[in-house]
Amino acid sequence: GLGYVHVDAEGDLTITPGSQPHIESISLPKLVDDVEAMGFQGPMLIRFGGILQDRITRLNRAFTESRSRLNYAGHYQGVYPVKVNQDRHVVSEVVASGTPMGLEVGSKPELVLAMAYMDRTPLIICNGYKDRDYIELALRATGLGFPIFVVVDRLEELAPIIDLAKSLNVSPNLGLRARLLTEGVGKWSESAGGFSKFGLTAGEILLAVNQLEREGLKESLKLLHMHQGSQISLLDVVRQSAQEIVRFYLELRKMGCPIEYVDVGGGLGVDYEGLSSSAPCSVNYSLGQYADALLGVFAERCREAGAPEPNVVTESGRALTAPHAVLVVEVMGWSEPVGRDPAPETIPEQAPEVQTLHTLAMEFDKERADLIWEQALMLFESIKQGFVLGRLDLTARSIAERVMVHLGRLVHEAKGQDPKPESRLQGYVSERYLTNFSMFQSLPDAWAIGQLFPIMPLQRLHEEPAAEAILQDLTCDSDGQVKRFIGVQGENATLPVHHPGPTERYRLGFFLVGAYQEILGDYHNLFGDTHVVEVGLKADGSMAKPVVRRGQRSVDVLKAVSYEPSELYDAVGRLARGACKDDRAAQFIEAYARLVKGCPYLTSRS
Ligand code: PLP
Repeated sequence: GLGYVHVDAEGDLTITPGSQPHIESISLPKLVDDVEAMGFQGPMLIRFGGILQDRITRLNRAFTESRSRLNYAGHYQGVYPVKVNQDRHVVSEVVASGTPMGLEVGSKPELVLAMAYMDRTPLIICNGYKDRDYIELALRATGLGFPIFVVVDRLEELAPIIDLAKSLNVSPNLGLRARLLTEGVGKWSESAGGFSKFGLTAGEILLAVNQLEREGLKESLKLLHMHQGSQISLLDVVRQSAQEIVRFYLELRKMGCPIEYVDVGGGLGVDYEGLSSSAPCSVNYSLGQYADALLGVFAERCREAGAPEPNVVTESGRALTAPHAVLVVEVMGWSEPVGRDPAPETIPEQAPEVQTLHTLAMEFDKERADLIWEQALMLFESIKQGFVLGRLDLTARSIAERVMVHLGRLVHEAKGQDPKPESRLQGYVSERYLTNFSMFQSLPDAWAIGQLFPIMPLQRLHEEPAAEAILQDLTCDSDGQVKRFIGVQGENATLPVHHPGPTERYRLGFFLVGAYQEILGDYHNLFGDTHVVEVGLKADGSMAKPVVRRGQRSVDVLKAVSYEPSELYDAVGRLARGACKDDRAAQFIEAYARLVKGCPYLTSRS
């Protein structure tokens, strides 16, 4: 929680959006109640601008402190890579943070949005693959005096850069992205290493320098870039990468290139698991250690070589934005495995397997739990066959199902509630909570790459949870389930939760979702963007009235897949009126229109 998340006296989860003492905590369940009272039902992404500001402050402070600890002569410049979250509110918040922050872009639309902040940002780093249009726009802005750096990602980009710089009569600010041999680590490790997708090899860097020299543009080479992949979990990898990039820097300086900046890219990780370890969704270092690792290596090697200590640029995105957003979803229903009561009325005589199964449960012996479970599974298989072949009826089967649930629980208890029971037992002991969201829209990395996010109930946190649940989303896709949780090994895990009361609004929070999730999310089953709640602070540290942006309605997502609402109304209206001449057609058309304009997520429990 990085100090932002607490539990209040009522057992509600609270957020303190910042770290100054005057900032008040906000009860998340109460905030959600207020937003719902404003007429917004369904899942909502809540952004705390104060947390984003605080992350920027903390990152800059870490480098300031590290510079003074190490007596480091170069400056530090934080740059926000907009790809991590391009939302206008996020980028504007970053730029307005009070600490001058640069912007990094990797495509033409990202460049276009970043240019709107050209007067308020100390530099814009242009990464990514570039065509002539991209290069031309960047160079024209340089010509107007804006601090734009064009980083050569592929050698082929250099010729059009030189050509356009000459024809526009612009003196460019150029960077080279080096391809390091140091391997990355974790889920994004393929961004680094000798065969990665990005950057120039040592040979290509030499060719680039020669080409620039020939064209009289060597003086433009001011920046050296690297990026070792996102979420670097090990400080050693940061250190090794620094060792390698500083050698490139020193060699380029020796060749007379006036490199002023070493841009180490992103990769500063987030401790999603709270383990402070090298696990892929954790990190084994603090912000201060990260800064010390980079500056320490640069200082040592530059001092040895008698070279100036470069200004250091980081493009940390995940570490700034992940903590500032939480997705709040409501549990809309849950299914316990049917029937906890094992005592059947009467067991049909022609079902001897069911009799035996029942006896296993009634005379359960803890010491033989494994053996009994194996026997039960075999019996249940034979009961299934008996049902398929018509020998057993529906009643016999339903009794067997109930007994299996009961036995499953007995076995689970006998085995000490193993948090990762074997997969067949798992099904019998975990409950399924239907949660009002789409994994593909709101938590794509959990689906695509098994990324872990902290997930927990927002209320009743003084009460021991009585259930273990898998979280199922709304999509008609078996992948749409959260079955990996922090602190539980393996894939088929469950989350401890309470049983919601009959009318209780039982909500869960998905934390640290402010990086990448929004933009990677997609429309599977046409579940669109959720509502977004922007929470700002007043000068006295209390919460300002939240600003809510309505999520996409069905009509919006339908348009995204090329349906014209007017054509839909025409077609469906024609069909309805053709089928029936009385009021029912009009009522149907009204109901249809309500759905078209409504929220794709559930707005009531079934
Ligand atoms: N810079 C570049 C070039 C990137 O490709 C990325 C993303 O992978 C980043 C910065 C942001 O990385 P992170 O979010 O890990 O800080």
